[in-house]
This record gives sequence, C-alpha cells and structure tokens, in this order.
Amino acid sequence: MSVTRAGSQAGPSDQELLNAVLDTAGVLVIVLDPGGHIVRFNAACERLTGYRFEDIRGARIWDVLLVPDEVEGVRRVFSQLAAGHFPNTHENFWRTRGGEKRRIAWSNTAILGEDGAVRYVVGNGVDITELREAEADARRLTEEQAARRAAEAEILARKRVEEALRLSEAKFAGIVSIAADAIISTDEAQRIVLFNQGAERIFGYRAEEVVGQPLDLLLPERSRGVHREHIAHFAGAPVVARRMGERQEIAGRRKDGEEFPAEAAISKLEVGGQRIFTVVLRDITERKRSESAQRFLAEASSILATSLDYATTLSSVARLAVRSLADLCIIDIVEEEGRIRRLEAVHADPAKEEIAAALRDYPLDRDRRHLAHRTLQTGETLLVSDVTDDILAGLAQDERHLELLRRLEIGCFLVVPLLARGRMFGAMTLVCSRAQRSLDERDVALAEELARRAAFAIDNARLYREALQAVRSRDEVLSVVSHDLGNPLSAIFIGAGLLEGELPDASVDATVRQHLDAIRRSAEQMERLIHDLLEIRRMEAGRLQLRPQPVKVAPLVAETRQILQPLATVKSLRLEAEIGDGLPPVRADRERLLQILSNLVGNAVKFTPSGGTITIRVEPAGDALRFSVSDTGPGIPEDQLPFIFDRFWQAQHTGRRGIGLGLAIAKGLVEAHGGSIWAESRVGAGSTFHFTMPADRPAN
Ligand code: ADP
Repeated sequence: MSVTRAGSQAGPSDQELLNAVLDTAGVLVIVLDPGGHIVRFNAACERLTGYRFEDIRGARIWDVLLVPDEVEGVRRVFSQLAAGHFPNTHENFWRTRGGEKRRIAWSNTAILGEDGAVRYVVGNGVDITELREAEADARRLTEEQAARRAAEAEILARKRVEEALRLSEAKFAGIVSIAADAIISTDEAQRIVLFNQGAERIFGYRAEEVVGQPLDLLLPERSRGVHREHIAHFAGAPVVARRMGERQEIAGRRKDGEEFPAEAAISKLEVGGQRIFTVVLRDITERKRSESAQRFLAEASSILATSLDYATTLSSVARLAVRSLADLCIIDIVEEEGRIRRLEAVHADPAKEEIAAALRDYPLDRDRRHLAHRTLQTGETLLVSDVTDDILAGLAQDERHLELLRRLEIGCFLVVPLLARGRMFGAMTLVCSRAQRSLDERDVALAEELARRAAFAIDNARLYREALQAVRSRDEVLSVVSHDLGNPLSAIFIGAGLLEGELPDASVDATVRQHLDAIRRSAEQMERLIHDLLEIRRMEAGRLQLRPQPVKVAPLVAETRQILQPLATVKSLRLEAEIGDGLPPVRADRERLLQILSNLVGNAVKFTPSGGTITIRVEPAGDALRFSVSDTGPGIPEDQLPFIFDRFWQAQHTGRRGIGLGLAIAKGLVEAHGGSIWAESRVGAGSTFHFTMPADRPAN
C-alpha cells in the first residue's frame, strides 16, 4: 500500500492492528508537515536522539536533527513525495542531543489531503550506525575477512531493512485503517498526550487545544467518575487491551458541548518507564440513528398491520411519531369525496395535549391555508425551519387558529404527503417546539418513509372495503337474478310449449319451428345458469344437503355418457370410458356425483375441437376411487391452472361460453363428499380433471 488520503473511510480498526502500530517502538516513526515541521515523534525517536517530543514539536527537522550536509537530501525526498513517488527510501545522519551522529535508513511515505496535495510525510527509520561501522571495520580487515564480514553485514543490513519495511507497512496499514477513528493517548495522570486527526474531526478540537489537558474535557460530566474508575481498574488489570463500555454505552462530548454515542477500546503501553493509555474511539451517532430509524419503521409497520381500521392504526402511528420524531403530529386524511378530515393531533407533552385536542377538532376550511394546506394540494414534502410569527400568520385559518399555533411555540415543521400508487390520501404534519429539537434531512427521509407506509395501509384498507362492497353488491344482484327470473322463465317455457302444441303438424313453415326451438334452448340455458347460481349460493351458505349411498361406478359412467353422447356426436367427438375391474362402489349422493361428472365431461365436450377424444377413467386410489376426465382439447395455460376452480373464473381464450361456475360447483360437491379435485393440463396437449370419491367398504 503506498497512498492514502487523510480522512478516507478506513475499515474498522482492530485492536491487534493498533497494538502493531504502538508496538513499533523499536522503529523510528516521525511525521512531518510539508514545511518540514515535526508533528509526531515516537518513543523510539526520543530514546535515540535524547530529545523529548514536547521539546522539538513544531521545530523544522533541519534545524534540530539533521546534519547540515543532509538537508539537500531530505528536500529531495520531499519533492519526490510531492511528485507521487512513494514509498521511497534513503539514508541520512541524525545528530542526537548529545552531539552523536547516527546513521538511519528511512522508508518514507506521504499522507495526502482531499485535494491530493501532501499533507504529512511519514518516515519510518532504522538505526544502522553499527551496521555501517561494521562495514567500515570490514574494509580495514584482510581481503578475505573483509569479504566475509561484508557479506554478513550485507545479509544483516538487508534483513534489517526488510524488517523495517515490513513494520513500516504494518504501521502504514495501521494509519490507514484507523484514520476514521479517534486515537487519543493519555499519560498516567489522564492528561492528553496524543490527539490524532480522527480525534480532531470527531471532537472538534485541534490537537494543540487539547494536548496537555485532562481527558475529562472529552467526556460528558456524568460519566467522568465512571471513566476514571474504569481506567484505574484497567491500569491494574493483567490485560493490555480491552473494549470499553461492554456493559453500558459510552458517550463523548464534542467541543460544542454536543454528546455523542461512541464505541471504544483502550490499551496500555510502557514507554520509557511511563505508562501510556491509548483509546481508539469511533463515533457511532450515524449507526445508532439508522438503527433507531429502522426500529421506528418496523414498529410503525407492525402497528399498521394490526388492523384494517386505518383510523385507529394511524392514531397509534401518530403517537409513535411524537415519541421520537417530533413534539406534535397531525394527520389529515382526504376522504373519498375529496373532503379533508383531521384524523389525529397528538402532542408529546401532556401539558400541551389540550392544544392538540383543540387543533384536532378545529374545523378546517380547505380553501384557506393551514400547515398541511400546500402539501395536500401539491403532494410535495414541505420543511419549514425557523418559523416566525409572520409565517404562522400566513398559515392560520383565523385569529383563534393563529392563537393555538402560537401557543405551540413552533420552531420548525415538516409536512409529508400520504401518497400511495400515485394517489393522495392525506398529509402528516410533524411540529417541533422551538426549545426542543429541529428536523434535518434524515428526519425528512424517515418521515417520508413512514408516510409512505401509512398511505399504503390506508390504500389497502380502502381497497379491501371496496372489494367487500363489490362482492356484496354482486351477491345481491345474483340473488335477485336467481330468484326472480324463475317465474318469467316458467312463463316462457309454458308459452313456447303452448305455441308448439297449437301448430298444425305438417303445414307449418319450418322457420317458425326453428324460432320456437331457439326460444326453448335459450330458456333451458338460462334455467341451467340460474340453477348453478342457486347451487353455489346454497353451497356457500352451507345449505347443501347430501344423501350418500353406495353408488356403482359402471352404471354411473354409462349414464353420464348417455347424457352427453348427443352433444359429442354433434361435434364429432369420441366419448370413451375405461373402468378398472372389480372396483367397489363409492359412497356418494348419486345425483350430485352425476352432476360432477357431467360438468367435467360437459366442459371437455365444450372445449375440445371436432375429431377429438374424451376419456372417462375410474381407478382405485387408496380408500377412494379416482375419476379422471381427459380430453384432447386446447389445454389450460399453467399460470391459470390455480384459478380454474374459483367462482366466475374463465380462461381468457375460451370466450364467454358459460359463467365460470361449473368447476366451482364441482369442487364444492367433491369436497362436500370428502374428496379432492385437481387438474393437469398443458397448452396444446389437452386437459385431465381428476377427483376422488370415498369408496364404500362394507363394514366387517
Ligand atoms: P364455464 O361455465 O365457463 O365453463 P367452468 O367453471 O366449468 O366455467 O370452467 C372455468 C374455465 O375453465 C372455463 O371457462 C375454461 O376456461 C376452463 N376449462 C374448464 N374445463 C376445460 C377444459 N376441459 N379444457 C380447457 N379449458 C377448460
């Protein structure tokens, strides 16, 4: 890894990584700004040079540490870094506080700012003074010895440089991965000694402002005592690192006084006889917020799902909203006739509930302005912050209304539309009192999501109500049709019969007979439809009466064929039967069983084109017999199979030849006998309808 950007969103820091970083004590780590000023200087540097970081912090490196000849070389490194060449390595001499010269092998890299410019130069170095001296000694020895020593030295040097680079990479990875977190070190007296960029960003202080200050500065007052105890306990514990706040949430305090939830881990380290505590801390405000938003929405959804009575569920949702989102929540509903009904107004503060009640009952003139007026008209969200008296005056229906609004001490308000499937169902208004809180973009998103879910609940409830109404009115029409058509139909039958009887046999015009025939056929069809309708109503009302008895299968199938043969012949269809040998009788109401079979065979005849074959089969199936009616007709598309037994259902392609009750009746009758019915079909490969009937086994 060679490049990072300050402030990049690194993955979560883990304790090991942090320890790897801190444990690089043997490696020299120095951080400079682009001007060469010392920004960080680790304990290894302190030990080597004899300077304390505090002594040389902010000094330019060439003024304190570099041998004058080296300045050029270091400047070259800086320009290489600026040109993007890193990591790079070089060697130079440092002069220690005691005047000693040490040779250091450096590996350098840069941390870039958002703008791509070098923000910090990070150098990781290894002291190779002895190594180089050994090399020099070696030169003085005999050729042979020298060669050997040089080879050893070379191996050693390579090893140490490799080691340095490896650590440097670990260090660098560490820097990257913790960049988003705050890293704060304190001494034993709990004074801040290190405050990284992450900490600056999270807490809002600059490092200069807090280094040397007590850590308490970064904690809410109430948790300072607990924190001190925790540190004291941790100091004496055998572990070197630990997660903080395992049992309770920890909180930080920003420069502006704002508190925030945090997650932290602490480690301790002996540096030069001093004990240093380092806390790695992450601001989890965002995470907490989105967790609580999810919880809030889940709770709202479960409230909305409890009932189809949306007036009640929306009231509960309003109550939920004033628990975490706002101080006052008003819900206005657009009634089906377009009238606006104020469904609810709740206030979080019981002392102001009386104002909410007055607003709830306030008669709204929809042509005059009020808080939700614009949103109800445009369907758009409206967020008004810093509400002034002028704004309020523009939103009041009249003086008394204005007075109520004033008493709410509104700081800001948000109106979100209740929109579902492009329809406007109303608006939800959330009001925050001046003293309490304000609403931001995230609250808007949350409120809009809540409103969307509420609108779907209203939509569903209304659709359900409409569906119920539609079913009810259809059933009413059906019952009128089925009962009241009986008498006129009988009159038609009688009239047609009388007319036919009065016709002189031979002399009559053939067309008159044809007309009479057509009248009777139509009347018969009507009679069948009425019969089916009455049947289905009886079934649904549980008024179906069965007279089960043993029914022999072969004669039953024969009778079915007899009934339908004429129709099959007209359509040039073959009607066949395959009945297993020695089948027991079934236990059924014979008339009803005949009706089921006739319905199925009738359908097969109806839908199978000329030249086709219809086969009735009966086979044993456990304690029952299975009847199957197969045809060579057009088949039923797979996606429609699940619906064919529904009332009034017809496949698209069949045209309106019946009214879609035949199979529903068959199913009702089969199930009333304790059997089951199903269909198998493929488009172009015919259909087979199966049903079972319990076998009638004589009791032993
Ligand atoms: P309908 O009175 O319309 O025939 P049914 O309940 O008997 O009502 O049948 C419902 C629908 O199922 C029919 O309209 C048709 O689309 C389909 N159907 C039933 N039997 C067959 C079959 N043998 N072949 C193809 N489609 C069938």
